[in-house]
Amino acid sequence: KVLLEVKDLTAVIAESQQRILNGVNLTVHEGEVHAIMGKNGSGKSTFAKVLSGHPDYEVTGGTVAFKGENLLDMEPEERSLAGIFMSFQSPVEIPGVSNADFLNMAYNARQRKLGQPELGPIEFFTYVYSKLDLVNMKTDFLNRNVNEGFSGGERKRNEILQLAVLGAELAILDEIDSGLDVDALQDVAKAVNGLLSPQNSVLIITHYQRLLEYIKPSYIHIMENGRIFDCKLGRVQQLTLRRYLLQKFTMPVGRI
Ligand code: ADP
Ligand code: MG
Ligand code: MG
Repeated sequence: KVLLEVKDLTAVIAESQQRILNGVNLTVHEGEVHAIMGKNGSGKSTFAKVLSGHPDYEVTGGTVAFKGENLLDMEPEERSLAGIFMSFQSPVEIPGVSNADFLNMAYNARQRKLGQPELGPIEFFTYVYSKLDLVNMKTDFLNRNVNEGFSGGERKRNEILQLAVLGAELAILDEIDSGLDVDALQDVAKAVNGLLSPQNSVLIITHYQRLLEYIKPSYIHIMENGRIFDCKLGRVQQLTLRRYLLQKFTMPVGRI
């Protein structure tokens, strides 16, 4: 089943009207892991932010359907409630709010949207406790204020914990690997792998190949100049890249 379908998506920076996305096409089915790679400045984060409804950008053309609904019509909160989770390159601190309370609020908001029962603080603690192992964190992680004084690795783990708690169908992980040492990277990768299911899909955005040694994507896409390109490479380059990616990751390569 198709989860996300992006067609000819174009977008500009709201303030300057500078065009960043030049016709992005991407189809993600349930259970797939897609990686988008590409040089710094190619538009990867812009694409992720446009999907999450970031106000810095204006969509000027194309369509995005999520579970068959028009995503572009939804407010950012609605997108998240609909099941899109977006990890941030620099997660914000929320002083005075404990991680447990924050996660509980986010969880209950999604449950309400789904018409499912909410959990009180004690029941929620039991629920979230069961997820801590996944991100290799101790209980005190829940009592600390959201991201306050967290190391880079802890912030990334916290993002994955949020994802685990919310159970979003589509996780967009933008440079979840940046600034992590190998241990933290492996922890994060293990956690993401632990969350994969036939229903959940992940869009991994990175400009390093390292992460893809631990998380095996179903498809790798290359973004360049605001497009995920099909056959823009010459035949020889295409074959070389395809062979390289196949050798390295033993996986099919999409849209190259
Ligand atoms: P990537 O994530 O692939 O490194 P980005 O999407 O962050 O690329 O950026 C693509 C291009 O758009 C870059 O040239 C960047 O400077 C520019 N850009 C993106 N967002 C903004 C913004 N809010 N204001 C100004 N320039 C931006
Ligand atoms: Mg960048
Ligand atoms: Mg980026």
